Amino acid sequence: MITPADFADKPLIATDDVPACPVCGSKNFSQSASGFDYESQTCRNEWFFVRCNACTHVWLNPRPAISTLGVIYPPTYYAYNYQQQINPIALAGKRWLDSAKMKSIIKRLPHEPSSFVDIGCGDGRFLRAMHERGLKKSDVYGLELDENVIAPLRADGYGAFCRRVEDCDEIANNSIDLATMFHVIEHVDDPGAVVKKVASWLRPGGVFAVETPNVDSLDARAFKEKFWGGYHIPRHWNLFSPPTLKRLFEDNGLRVIHTSFQTGHSFWMYSLQHRFNYGVNPKPRLARFFNPLKGLPMLIGFTAWDKLRESLGAKTSAMLMLAQRDA
Ligand SMILES: [Zn+2]
Repeated sequence: MITPADFADKPLIATDDVPACPVCGSKNFSQSASGFDYESQTCRNEWFFVRCNACTHVWLNPRPAISTLGVIYPPTYYAYNYQQQINPIALAGKRWLDSAKMKSIIKRLPHEPSSFVDIGCGDGRFLRAMHERGLKKSDVYGLELDENVIAPLRADGYGAFCRRVEDCDEIANNSIDLATMFHVIEHVDDPGAVVKKVASWLRPGGVFAVETPNVDSLDARAFKEKFWGGYHIPRHWNLFSPPTLKRLFEDNGLRVIHTSFQTGHSFWMYSLQHRFNYGVNPKPRLARFFNPLKGLPMLIGFTAWDKLRESLGAKTSAMLMLAQRDA
């Protein structure tokens, strides 16, 4: 069982209280989970998730102070060098799933998009995909917080900016047909402000597609107390369910037009990895098989398992919600 002593050589980082529900504003909440930075071991704080007694939203409280972001997102953080760390077969599979996801979004738009922004655009793969669909590079935007990935995209002609959504004034109001944000909203400090700002960028009829962990899923319930991979402690600050994400959109000017579920294979694997590394009677040799970046047989198995569940109507741990600005 993990104790603070296991992280004794790590820093104790500064925190900020979040005294009201980021979705509904209620100050009536109860503790729902606790844990440590199991994945990256960046700090020795014990962290707590609370659940709103009014709307059921779940958030990290207290959460890391903004001044500590350089600690909790170290240069080795996997999202920064995904391509180097992930198994090549898994990378090819991810590209296929990403492409299918984008097609499933575009077919639900009122017309072929002529302008696009991807928030948290990483290496720009979706920017390139939309340019290949026929969009002008000057109508394709990407936001990312790492200047090293933004600079080459900007040099290539894309509207790429090293900005948070709330601070980005380079995108005109009423100019965007499709905005996407995949696994980002759970990291931001004010998700309502982000939705409101993106809604202002959309043209009438424009769509905002958000993918984020679903805290009301089978794996989230099975590993609820501490080990669920979707917690990503302490980097996931807000955890939504279909009703709370819908409310966030509606309170900030958008109407939900579609909800679907993607495979949550990496959350299953991280949950089991944490359980075997840090649970009662730890089994670290077994835990290695559940590393989502390396454990290919389990990755294929859990992807197939969630695909099957999704086809049977289950709500997996990765939900994709499309919300539209009224035409
Ligand atoms: Zn609430």
